[in-house]
Amino acid sequence: MISGAGIAGPVLARWLVRHGLSPTVVERAPRLRDSGQNVDVRGIGREVLRRMGLEERVRAAGTGEVGLRFVDDRGRSVAEFPVGDSVSGDGPTAELEILRSRLSRLLVDEADGAEFVFGDRIESFEQDDGGVDVAFAGGGSRRFDLMIIAEGIRSTTRNTLFGAEPRYRDLGFYTAYCTIPRNADDDRWWRWYTTVGGRSVHLRPDDVGSTRATLNFVSAPTGLEYRDRGEQVRVLQDVFAGVGDAAPRILDALVADSSSLYLDRIAQVQLPSWSKGRVAVVGDAAYCATPVSGMGTSLALAGGYVLAGALGATADHAEAFASYERQMRPFVDEAQKLPPGVPRIANPTSRLGVRVYRTAVKAAASAPVRAATSRLTSSSTDRGPVLPNYGYL
Ligand SMILES: Cc1cc2nc3c(=O)[nH]c(=O)nc-3n(C[C@H](O)[C@H](O)[C@H](O)COP(=O)(O)OP(=O)(O)OC[C@H]3O[C@@H](n4cnc5c(N)ncnc54)[C@H](O)[C@@H]3O)c2cc1C
Repeated sequence: MISGAGIAGPVLARWLVRHGLSPTVVERAPRLRDSGQNVDVRGIGREVLRRMGLEERVRAAGTGEVGLRFVDDRGRSVAEFPVGDSVSGDGPTAELEILRSRLSRLLVDEADGAEFVFGDRIESFEQDDGGVDVAFAGGGSRRFDLMIIAEGIRSTTRNTLFGAEPRYRDLGFYTAYCTIPRNADDDRWWRWYTTVGGRSVHLRPDDVGSTRATLNFVSAPTGLEYRDRGEQVRVLQDVFAGVGDAAPRILDALVADSSSLYLDRIAQVQLPSWSKGRVAVVGDAAYCATPVSGMGTSLALAGGYVLAGALGATADHAEAFASYERQMRPFVDEAQKLPPGVPRIANPTSRLGVRVYRTAVKAAASAPVRAATSRLTSSSTDRGPVLPNYGYL
């Protein structure tokens, strides 16, 4: 049984079917949601898509973002990182850049042969030597051989399994995502405006006629992520009062309709172990690297693939879970290393800090140092260990 049909869940299901197993995926949302933001697929993630025969379909379903442009207080370009222009082929905007919801849908469609149950979730579970008994919130219970938690960063089933929250490595800021109406000035660039107070404003194109917006701000933890949307919008209005560029437009859009707002604290998930008995964790629930790494989706894709391969290779689940962890840890350790300057220099609070930051991105965008700085918002996991084969080739 797999809990969660985001990215890791359906990939795991698809490969388990290929290895002759029969997974059931339970997703709490009543149907696949269309909200969400642009995500990048890089390195090992791209390799998994290639092995699934999906790389070209994902490319064709991309948002069409042409690169990242930093702008100053007057909206002038400070520095530009065009897509596919770094030496590794993947700068801040990856070559495979797609709406998370669209990728999730493609992956669910690929998991033919798996059973999907939407609109339900685990109420409680109990494991013994022979299996896992799962009681569902919607009523009824079933016994499974194994249970895999793919519920994303705030997974509650994971917390129940380990008896506590994981260690969250807090990166010191909040991020708020929303979808706003596109206007005539919105182009195909990811527009990034940084201002004092550790605040930044982002606009990114999508391929469905709207614009994806992000507001980031440095703050001590206040529990804002647990408040209701109305209060979150009020706090965003306070924090971004007087900020220029696209901030007023985003705030207006949020006041008019906050249904797409998703606000969270940026934190990495760090767990000493990814399994306990017959239950394991995969994707963000196990090792969220944060959007700052640009590697969360790729780790979720690779984690699903590697875990399925390990389970397909042996009937001994303990051996399979150990193998999964051994194979995945190096990728996770690499992706969770923070790019230079993150989070301190990349979220400047003072005028001087903003000037230093803009000078730094300008230097980073210059041809000679572009190769060395492609990790500014991305990871170089491409150069790390290689994915195991599991009879794929
Ligand atoms: C705005 C944004 C931008 C991002 N940008 C990038 C990027 O550029 N590059 C990148 O690699 N990554 C990026 N990420 C991260 C990426 O989206 C995640 O790392 C990735 O989606 C993790 O996949 P997952 O399957 O582990 O978890 P998720 O995609 O979070 O899926 C978890 C699923 O589990 C379901 N669920 C949760 N709890 C339960 C429950 N109790 N019972 C049943 N179902 C449950 C949820 O509804 C959800 O469908 C970004 C994330 C966000 C939010």
